[in-house]
Amino acid sequence: MNQSDSRKGTNSVWGGETEHFPNGAVTSPIYNSVAFAYNDLDEWHAVATGKSEGHIYSRNTNPTVHVLEEKIRILESAEAATSFATGMGAISNTLFSLLGPGKRVVSLKDTYGGASRLFLDFLPAYGINVTLCETINHEEIEAEIAKGCDLVYLETPTNPTLKVVDLKRLSAAAHKVGAVVVVDNTFATPINQNPLLLGADLVLHSATKFLCGHSDAMGGVLCGKAELVKKVFSFREINGASLQADPAYMIARGMKTLELRIERQNASALKIARYLKAHDAVEEVFYPGLETHPGHEIAKAQMSGFGGVMSFALKGNYDTVKAFLPKLKLVHLAASLGSVSTLAGPPRTTSHVELTEEQRALLGIPESLIRYSVGIENVEDLIEDLEQALAAIKTEQMAVL
Ligand SMILES: *Cc1c(COP(=O)(O)O)cnc(C)c1O
Repeated sequence: MNQSDSRKGTNSVWGGETEHFPNGAVTSPIYNSVAFAYNDLDEWHAVATGKSEGHIYSRNTNPTVHVLEEKIRILESAEAATSFATGMGAISNTLFSLLGPGKRVVSLKDTYGGASRLFLDFLPAYGINVTLCETINHEEIEAEIAKGCDLVYLETPTNPTLKVVDLKRLSAAAHKVGAVVVVDNTFATPINQNPLLLGADLVLHSATKFLCGHSDAMGGVLCGKAELVKKVFSFREINGASLQADPAYMIARGMKTLELRIERQNASALKIARYLKAHDAVEEVFYPGLETHPGHEIAKAQMSGFGGVMSFALKGNYDTVKAFLPKLKLVHLAASLGSVSTLAGPPRTTSHVELTEEQRALLGIPESLIRYSVGIENVEDLIEDLEQALAAIKTEQMAVL
């Protein structure tokens, strides 16, 4: 079966799993083996030198990990894929292997906090020039790219205010100067958005989030042009940020329901965003599916669904958030996102805790902002839960307004 001909729901299930497993197993075995044995030294040598396919040592490759890599490769329509112990492993391996002293990277101010730390603290220490642009100012980003750069690093939608950048437009600008385009597709997932089909060269994910989907395993994946993936892979083999078989299995298992979960989360998030938008206790809702979102038109053009994450600001201040969040019953107040259960938290204490109030304001992050990652619960229950919590803080809210 040529898997690229199948649809995403089918590929979520069958991707990387069309061959029979040993003993006729219908799920991928978990190969918790550090090394793989050979009786024939010539065969061992052929595998070790890349002349034959096979596995030698699990820091390099592992059959269970390979199943996961294939699943993501097929879903993103990529030539090649590799994996990492975490999403940050994917990001740092990609940046450190493709950049070097004297190279220049252009990115956005709103990238994931960990990526942002690499751009601001670590890459400059290795002599790499970093320019971070206003996230939705496409003219500024294009002008910076046109000055010449080696790599353009994008993320859309962004955390926590769900800003959207035009991947086709910025990929075209990057290719004019010969730069490699890398996109963090964690928020959208391959179900809602395929950056490689919009012109990107590489796409990466924190597999910890929607791909795994159950908040019980961490991982990262990278896929795209074979020669670039190979370059990153050969760095990862040596620095050792490899994904283990156990979490790879759990992520691949989670991915079998990826399309089901994402379709549900897309639909629920849109309903909840509309509900919150109409509520008079809510100041603002950030969700690319809302017609009023500044990136809505771009999102409509490049995404097939708007995702399960939104954020909203309550009327009031941080005390209002402190009163509101513990009143929610169907939510874990925790970092992370993309799980079957709803997760929520204030960027002020999670992703953007290290910034001052002024710095957060510059990024357009209100003190009363809440990031809300919609799970697969029944949406009516989630709305009722929000309704009771919003009603319960009415008096506190009135007092600060
Ligand atoms: C969580 C996240 C990461 C980092 O992934 P880890 O698996 O936590 O290392 C990167 N990018 C985005 C958008 C994320 O949400």
